Amino acid sequence: VSIEFTIINEIFRRRVRAGDDVLLGIGDDAALTRLPDDSDLVTATDALVAGTHFLTTAPARSVGHRCLAVNLSDLAAMAAEPLWASLALGLPDFDRAWLEDFADGFFALADRYAVRLIGGDTVRSGSLFAAVTVQGCVPRGAVVRRSAASAGDLIYVTGCPGDAAAGRRLATGNPQLPESRVNPMEPLYRQFYFPEPRLAAGKALRSIASAMIDLSDGLHADLGRLLEASGAGASLDVARLPLSIDIRAAFDLPAALELALCGGDDYELCFTVPPDKISLLDGFAERAGCPLTMIGEVCKESGLRWNQSGLNYTVPSSGFEHFE
Ligand SMILES: [Mg+2]
Repeated sequence: VSIEFTIINEIFRRRVRAGDDVLLGIGDDAALTRLPDDSDLVTATDALVAGTHFLTTAPARSVGHRCLAVNLSDLAAMAAEPLWASLALGLPDFDRAWLEDFADGFFALADRYAVRLIGGDTVRSGSLFAAVTVQGCVPRGAVVRRSAASAGDLIYVTGCPGDAAAGRRLATGNPQLPESRVNPMEPLYRQFYFPEPRLAAGKALRSIASAMIDLSDGLHADLGRLLEASGAGASLDVARLPLSIDIRAAFDLPAALELALCGGDDYELCFTVPPDKISLLDGFAERAGCPLTMIGEVCKESGLRWNQSGLNYTVPSSGFEHFE
């Protein structure tokens, strides 16, 4: 084992917080953990590769934050509470300052949600990548799937879809401004570089939502997946989409709508609620710490039908955007 990789191990290990549910963390051949009684284990894995899933010039702190955030978002979409994470890092070279910043981003988010890093690996790799597995729990039987939406359910979304993709487009579409000089704390950039997983919202929806998904590839595509899994379709109105003040200031309406529907990287939650449970959403924004907007209704006929001022609105076909 090289000295570099020993240092890498130390950078991460010294920041791990103790927890009663971790019987053996980093240091043995494998981690040993204990689930709370009467709970189901929820597991998700997502890998981010430089140039494909994040900008090669993205701040290291953002890469550390995002590789965990996108996974926590998947747990949120299952109404799960996060517990543990494992991290596999592929590094083209050894850059201690970059790793320290990456760890700052990773642990700032992990500590906020009491997620313990229980293992991982570091390898030399041609491309930089970060692959994270997260595990969490839900009370037995309380998980929310994507497959149980029914005709008549109303469709909701958290936050402002489109903001993250708007931040990405501003960062990539402006060659005069190096990405490293983009201020990651401006609202649109912040939504792209530091998305906040909607864990409180997911948990608050346990006995309310009939189906739920998180938005990684765009509202139109991901809601389409939820409806297909549920064997249903939907009727929606683009005028209901919660476009932020920031996206409206930076883009015209057609571009803002395209970003909101097809942009991706939102990590907001989209979910359905049966009519008899709508009143349970009273005060939801305060409880969950994020705004909530009703955007349409589930129908029997398959497919998504978007309307704009009573006319059919055709969703622009935009493919997955790579960074290089
Ligand atoms: Mg997902």
